[in-house]
Amino acid sequence: MEDFIEKELRKIKNEVINCKKCPLYKTRIYPVIGQGNHRAKIMLIGEAPGASEDRTGFPFCGAAGKVLDELLNSVGIKRKNIYICNILKCRPPANRNPKAEEIEACTPYLLRQIKNIKPKVICTLGNFSTAFILEKYGLKDKIQGIGKIHGKVFNSNSIKIIPLYHPAAATYNLNMKEILKNDFKILKKI
Ligand code: URA
Ligand code: SF4
Repeated sequence: MEDFIEKELRKIKNEVINCKKCPLYKTRIYPVIGQGNHRAKIMLIGEAPGASEDRTGFPFCGAAGKVLDELLNSVGIKRKNIYICNILKCRPPANRNPKAEEIEACTPYLLRQIKNIKPKVICTLGNFSTAFILEKYGLKDKIQGIGKIHGKVFNSNSIKIIPLYHPAAATYNLNMKEILKNDFKILKKI
C-alpha cells in the first residue's frame, strides 16, 4: 500500500509535470523531479537539468553525473540509497544560470521534497543550491562562495548541510575532482 510519503511525492511529481509557474516549462523536454530512495539519509541538491537530464527526465545522467558516480563510488555510497534532485526542475536554455524568479517559483517543490524525505544530511552542489539551502535553514550569514565553504559542515536543527563544488566543475578541471573526492570523504565519516 502506498504510504503518506509516497503519496506526497507522487503529488509533487504530478504538479511538476503540469507546472507553468515559470517560463522554463516552454523550452524543456522533460522536467527532472528527482531520483532515489524516498527515505534517504543523504540528499544531494544540484542546480538544474542539463541536456542529458532534459532528454531523459533523470538527474545527473550526463557528464556531471559520471563524475558524481565516481565520487559516490569512491566513498562506497550507492545512488539507490540516497536521493538526488535539483533547485530547478526544468532545464534553463543553453544551461544558463537559474534566475532569481525561477528559483523562487520552483523551490517550493524542493522544500516539499525535503519535508517528506527528511534527510539527515543535505549536500548542496554548487553556489546556487548552497546559497538557497543555507538561507532557508537560517544560516544566511554563513553564505560565501563555494570556493570558501566547500567541505564544511553546517548544523541546523538536527540536519547537517555540506556545501560541495558542483561535479560539473570537475569535468573541465582535474584538480577539482581531487578536492571533491576529499570533501566526499566527510560523507563517509558522518
Ligand atoms: N547538473 C545539475 O545541477 N543537475 C543535474 O541534474 C545535471 C547536471
Ligand atoms: Fe515549474 Fe520549476 Fe519547471 Fe519553472 S522550473 S516550470 S517552476 S517546475
